[in-house]
Formats: sequence, structure tokens, C-alpha cells
Amino acid sequence: MAHQPERTCVGCKRIRKKSTLLRVAKLCDGEVAVDIAQKLGGRGAYVCPIWECIVAAQGRRGFEASLKKRLSTIVCEELLKHAPLVTGNWWKPTRKR
Ligand SMILES: [Zn+2]
Repeated sequence: MAHQPERTCVGCKRIRKKSTLLRVAKLCDGEVAVDIAQKLGGRGAYVCPIWECIVAAQGRRGFEASLKKRLSTIVCEELLKHAPLVTGNWWKPTRKR
């Protein structure tokens, strides 16, 4: 089986398969965009597609730490649109502590 690339969620800091995460990219003009296809160039940050992680990443400056830029409210809202309203079982915690 092919190795699946993994990335760390900037919200919960758990490592997950890249394909299950949402990507946010910092474009060359300094703007930050939601990168659903994960094809945009530039520095990227990954977050689980759930409200908890998106809100946590924004609140704890996870995006800021990765992208050197805080997400605008517009980008944050767009990201939330891609997050299921209800947290599924798939992200059963593998707690760090
Ligand atoms: Zn997460």
C-alpha cells in the first residue's frame, strides 16, 4: 500500500492523513486562501475539518504560527463551511496526554 502523506493539524496538533485535512495556503501576495484541492503553492497549514480544530487553531494562533499571518474572518468562515456541523466518530481522540 502506498504511503499516505501525513500532516499535523494546527488546531489539535494530531498527525493525520493529509487527504483528511483542510489546507489553508498563504499565497505569494500574502493573502490566505482555503485550498480545498490542496494544489495551491506557498506555505500551507493543515487543520481537521471540524469546528473544534478550526476554532482552536484560530484562537491559539495555530494558523498564525504556521503562516505568519492570522486568518481573516472571511477565510475562517469559509473554512468553517467545509467543516461538518457535527463531529463524526472518525476523529476519535488519540490523546497526547
Ligand atoms: Zn485537529
